[in-house]
Amino acid sequence: MKKLYDPSIVEDKWYARWMEQKLFNADETSAKPKYSIVIPPPNVTGILHMGHALNCTIQDILVRFKRMNGFEALWVPGADHAGIATQNVVEKKLAKEKKNRHEVGREAFIEEVWKWKAQSHATITGQIKKLGCSCDWSKERFTMDEGLSRAVRKVFVRLYHEGLIYRGKYIINWCPRCQTALSDEEAEHKEVKGKLYHFKYPFASGDGFMVVATTRPETMLGDTAVAVNPADERYTSAVGKMLLLPLVNREIPIIADDFVDRQFGTGAVKVTPAHDPNDFQMGKRHAMEPIEVMDGAGRMRGPIPEKYIGLDRFACRKAVVEDMEALGLVDKIEEHTHSVGHCYRCNTVVEPSYSNQWFVKMKPLAEGALKAAQNDEVRFFPTRWKKTYCDWMENIRDWCISRQIWWGHRIPVWYCKACGHITVAEIDPDICPSCKSESIIQDEDVLDTWFSSWLWSFSTMGWPDNSGLMQKFYPTDTLVTAPEILFFWVSRMIMAGLHFTGKLPFENVILHGTVRDKTGRKMSKSLGNAIDPLEIIATHGADALRFSLINITAQGADVYLSKDTFDVGRNFSNKLWNASRFLLDNISGKPGFENVPDPADLSFADAWIMSRLNKTIASVCSSLSTFRSNECAHTLYDFIWRDFCDWYIEIKKADLYQDGDPKRKNTALNLCSYVLGNILKLLHPLMPFVTEEIWEHLRSKIDYSLLIDSPAIMSAKYPVYNPDLVNEVIEKDFGLLKDIITALRTIRSENNIPPDKKAVAVIIPASEAEERMLVAHVDMINSFARLSETHIGLGAQKPKLAGQSVVMGNQVFLVLEGLIDKDVERQRLEKEIGRVRKMCEGAQVRLADPNFVDKAPTEVVEKEKEKYSGLLKNLEKLEKNLVALNN
Ligand SMILES: [Zn+2]
Ligand SMILES: [Zn+2]
Repeated sequence: MKKLYDPSIVEDKWYARWMEQKLFNADETSAKPKYSIVIPPPNVTGILHMGHALNCTIQDILVRFKRMNGFEALWVPGADHAGIATQNVVEKKLAKEKKNRHEVGREAFIEEVWKWKAQSHATITGQIKKLGCSCDWSKERFTMDEGLSRAVRKVFVRLYHEGLIYRGKYIINWCPRCQTALSDEEAEHKEVKGKLYHFKYPFASGDGFMVVATTRPETMLGDTAVAVNPADERYTSAVGKMLLLPLVNREIPIIADDFVDRQFGTGAVKVTPAHDPNDFQMGKRHAMEPIEVMDGAGRMRGPIPEKYIGLDRFACRKAVVEDMEALGLVDKIEEHTHSVGHCYRCNTVVEPSYSNQWFVKMKPLAEGALKAAQNDEVRFFPTRWKKTYCDWMENIRDWCISRQIWWGHRIPVWYCKACGHITVAEIDPDICPSCKSESIIQDEDVLDTWFSSWLWSFSTMGWPDNSGLMQKFYPTDTLVTAPEILFFWVSRMIMAGLHFTGKLPFENVILHGTVRDKTGRKMSKSLGNAIDPLEIIATHGADALRFSLINITAQGADVYLSKDTFDVGRNFSNKLWNASRFLLDNISGKPGFENVPDPADLSFADAWIMSRLNKTIASVCSSLSTFRSNECAHTLYDFIWRDFCDWYIEIKKADLYQDGDPKRKNTALNLCSYVLGNILKLLHPLMPFVTEEIWEHLRSKIDYSLLIDSPAIMSAKYPVYNPDLVNEVIEKDFGLLKDIITALRTIRSENNIPPDKKAVAVIIPASEAEERMLVAHVDMINSFARLSETHIGLGAQKPKLAGQSVVMGNQVFLVLEGLIDKDVERQRLEKEIGRVRKMCEGAQVRLADPNFVDKAPTEVVEKEKEKYSGLLKNLEKLEKNLVALNN
């Protein structure tokens, strides 16, 4: 084994070998029980970010864990065509060449997107591989591939014939930049500081005004009425009268409608049916024709004064306000914070717009999906998401599924020019089935991107065919995703699964947190605070990235990262590497171990490590089965770093370094190899690469069929908990010894005793039983605390000059007489106390300075606080030592 572990060479090598040996491939004809996950398909526009890294790591841990536990485990990878997002990217590219999609033409434009997709898709796929994800790439899917397109058509046609898809003119969210409809979920509502304009509308009769308030003055050009609440006595006499709409000089009626809130503004509201969803409903109730005054790009048009035509909506807003002011018709303008929809793809302010779109009726689909969550047939982790999900399902609205873009599944609807017949079909028709005319044209629009991804859990398995994959692996088991897409994707997948396959698409939904920087801001390219996972993989290795991420990610909680977060994982893999190298270097020949010794033949330390190992196995399996991988990371870290490396191997060195008794050495090697092999298996799902690399070295050094049950660790059997090997008494005794040794070591270091100086300790045990135990293991205490001797006894004399500590009622003394020169030590302590005190004062001054505390980045201030409290503790200890020395 090389002295230094170099993940950059090892990781690429193993991924290539796993692929070559088809170890990720799941077999639909296997007799083993199945476990399946479908990846949340990343957008083809995507590049790997920390959110993906976290998401993929959680999935890979589950899949590898199940695979090693004897399951036929399938992880389906793939990508989403991401309609609007992808089209935007390619349009931007064209804009650089001073072209737009309309000049290029639909077919050539789509060809252009496919070309771009081929290259971009390879990027994200390559990055997921870099992370070590054990996806079955032979089953990779794309939301616009042939099979998935077939599924989309099937579903559209079926829903249409079931009366669950309809077309109509409604108010939808419109992005004037992307020039397409958006679903309600795609219009992200944000608090915006705007203005509330109070305008006076004169009565047509010429006397007096009504005052109405609006946040969007430009829409007044399309007003068709002013509405008041029928119960509002202020306006009883006004209802039915006419107003003269300023600027346009069109007469509009005053109507009464229950919808109007008497408390809002003056209690009178303008009604613009073509540009507001509530006004649209009101317009319908009062049989008013909507007047459209804006085009798809957000420019003014229609039956409005010439001077406004062609103006951008915001320029028009300014002009309208100025003109109203000039007419003396502005009552007042107030500052006003309100919620405004923004396009989730380009952040443009969404315009409510009246247009012809396709919709899915959601209520009938939501019923079963709601019940499934209420009955816990589908479960959410953390459970708080169940309520969010149920609330949404209870209030679900119809889903606008048509998009006015080109990249996506074109709507499978054809209109006959000759007879007006509408054909909805899975296979493109050549002629109108009604009048046989060839003059049919397909709907121009494409389907919302989520209309293909909501089928992902079964379309990727070959649905609508009852394929082998469907039979073996559907329904899937676990879905791992981000809460942001709970409505967009998770809930719709549940509805689709139930409606089209009659089964829930998965049983468990894990919703992990958002990745943030140390100060809590969401990581994003535009903020410049993103940490690139590939950069971390290059410097630390994918194992380190995976372990560090999981280590700090509590179930469902947000993750706070800085670059040094990843040192934990790197140091951990180095620690494991070094310990393994030490052990394997000590093995010569190729010993064949049959089995570990009988529990009855195990020494104190051996019985202790076997007990710790089995408890670790139980804990890891329980954590992973309940989706708490961070607990699993903590358990393994403590067991491997502390129990195995720091204690067990150190104890075993005495056996390994002696040559007189070959059997003793062999037993030590047997047990160390056995524990190491189990460690590698336990850790493999979290750190696949370093464990596979060490496994290969282990295989080449020893012959151990009980332990080494597979050439590749990723197909080896996961360790199984053996309760017979758990020994609570030994664990308790060993724990006490460890604590006593640690206390003695602390006294040594606090008193600056050089490591080569042997000391003497005195222990007054808490009980006779503990006295017997400590006497039995005095060698361990002496060797680990570097002592020449230890006096243990209930009646032992307390030494005069000594450092002391109390461990679970046992008094522990380290004799300092003769080890330190009192005067020299006093001087040293005084000097050190002076130095630390000065640093404390410095930190105190800085933390009292508002210039520093308020202006420095939070993480810097936090570090300073940490430093200060550490210094205070040091100071206290040093002062205590000085007092002890002087007594
Ligand atoms: Zn947009
Ligand atoms: Zn026809």
